[in-house]
Amino acid sequence: MKNYMEVSFLAKSENEAFARVVVASFASQLDPTIDEIADIKTAVSEAVTNSIIHGYDEDETKLVYLKCEIEGDIIKIVVEDNGKGIENIEMAKQPLYTSKPELERSGMGFTVMETFMDEMEVSSILGEGTKIVMKK
Ligand code: ATP
Ligand code: MG
Repeated sequence: MKNYMEVSFLAKSENEAFARVVVASFASQLDPTIDEIADIKTAVSEAVTNSIIHGYDEDETKLVYLKCEIEGDIIKIVVEDNGKGIENIEMAKQPLYTSKPELERSGMGFTVMETFMDEMEVSSILGEGTKIVMKK
């Protein structure tokens, strides 16, 4: 492992921007293009938003965990929560699927993460939490 960092923060919407900037700053040592940084920030935002809104149902006392690892020219980003978990991951990943249409979610978060990153893996245990691993 060439470099590693981890940070945890309260599940507040203000911290979405914090998480984006932290990852962009850490990734900058790879000399990414502006487009690559924009993609990474967007994907991190989607994952963190999901933990806050879905994982924790906006309980701001809970923590979101963010870990980044740089190996060669690859960055691996992990976003984790100890929230409610996802019952059916395959269904959750479908474009336009959302469990919160009343909040005007579009159900595109996972699709965005998959599109903007080279790899995206979801693991989740109902009642225990969700872990997203992305690479670029
Ligand atoms: P959008 O991201 O477009 O605002 P969305 O968040 O509903 O809408 P996705 O990000 O694709 O869409 O997520 C799909 C569904 O997966 C969510 O509606 C939710 O049911 C579930 N989900 C995603 N992340 C989590 C999580 N961390 N914990 C629990 N459920 C989650
Ligand atoms: Mg989402």
